[in-house]
Amino acid sequence: MAKFSFRGGVHPVYSKEITSTLAIVKMPLPQKVVVPMQQHIGAPCELLADVEKIEKGIEVKAGQKLGDNKGFVSAPVHAPISGTVVDIGPYNHPLGMKINAVTIESDGRDEWDENIKPAGSLEDLSADDIRKIVREAGIVGLGGATFPSHVKLSPPEDKPIDVVIINGAECEPYLTADHRVMLEKTEEIVFGLKAMMKALGASEGIIGIEDNKPDAHKQVESMVAEEENIRVCTLPTKYPQGAEKMLIYVTTGRVVPAGALPMEVGIVNHNVGTAAAITQAIREGKPLVERVLTVTGSGVAKPANVQARLGTLASEALDFCGGISESTLKVVVGGPMMGLAQPSADIPVIKGTSGILALTDEDVYLAESSPCIRCAKCVSVCPMNLMPTSIAQASEHGDYRRAEKLYALDCFECGCCSYICPSKIPLVQWIRIGKNEIMKRKNK
Ligand code: SF4
Ligand code: SF4
Repeated sequence: MAKFSFRGGVHPVYSKEITSTLAIVKMPLPQKVVVPMQQHIGAPCELLADVEKIEKGIEVKAGQKLGDNKGFVSAPVHAPISGTVVDIGPYNHPLGMKINAVTIESDGRDEWDENIKPAGSLEDLSADDIRKIVREAGIVGLGGATFPSHVKLSPPEDKPIDVVIINGAECEPYLTADHRVMLEKTEEIVFGLKAMMKALGASEGIIGIEDNKPDAHKQVESMVAEEENIRVCTLPTKYPQGAEKMLIYVTTGRVVPAGALPMEVGIVNHNVGTAAAITQAIREGKPLVERVLTVTGSGVAKPANVQARLGTLASEALDFCGGISESTLKVVVGGPMMGLAQPSADIPVIKGTSGILALTDEDVYLAESSPCIRCAKCVSVCPMNLMPTSIAQASEHGDYRRAEKLYALDCFECGCCSYICPSKIPLVQWIRIGKNEIMKRKNK
């Protein structure tokens, strides 16, 4: 049980009951996949040119590497299906821009690259072996952050890590993919955690699960009952419980300083899906080419937790779930708090796609914003102790220096302030604009 609680946060309507009891369903192989060269935080991949040239017309196998980047903070991308490369060029991306992508038309055979082989037993793998496997498999944070996992497994020598935390909070409303992964891939999560602990030389593993998932808690706890150095920590249900700094504080009492990474306090965090992906990479040699995501919202005819190949179009995933109703007001990738509304469902599922939501007026309340009434509710819910209203105003007036002085860069865009604001001011959107401007000026 958690001994600590973080400041602020909100209790939105969770709507998880729509899909939380639905077992993961494997989607049929898509006819076509679109694989963007950027599916992670860090340097975008470049198409392979040296060993094997990736170009229009060539045949590829599932699991074959398509793109990579020599930069340390990057992760390669692989072909999710076997087939023919039919296009290379900019394609719609869930981040709201066009990004270079490889389009593959399936040959229906799902043939895997012959180089894909199990890596051997965990006991025989060194820390460096594990890091290399994770990097080559293109594994990134599957909770949505998409930070390359091998980087988190490679802390500097002067930053020893003693605790690995596995994030099973899944605090975003509607999403239940992690919940199902905890129920259906429990052993893989624990194995992945052990691999990460070995890579980091960590002595303790913690799996944090919100108390609105008692079945997952029970199952994971029974799996680690015999493990001396792994424990399950029950977290009170509160958004954004799964945010890195909140999770670390609630499970260990350690405070990550502003602007610092968790490794400053001897901790590394990974999502449950990431742990399971690491297990697959070690045991089967398979790179990250598919993931579990929740397709839900009142606009979806048959909501589901699906396992889809990366590059499957969101429109295809929605069709698989019975299609969307005409009353759908918006399609969102990710959860309703931190996800991004999409102008079209013609976008691929990428490594960070935890959910696709089709929301109607049953799910969202659209209202015009009105002037700030100085209620300070946004201040009281901000888990980072910021003044959202002042930062948003500074950003709206183009006063980015003031926004920076108000610690705009500490905002991790949880959306609590916008959610609670009675005047419906798009605070987080203004803060995001301010952050982008501050970063642009810093990079100049
Ligand atoms: S200012 Fe940022 S961190 Fe604070 S509540 Fe708003 S979105 Fe969340
Ligand atoms: S919650 Fe909205 S109305 Fe209240 S102080 Fe913040 S910005 Fe103003």
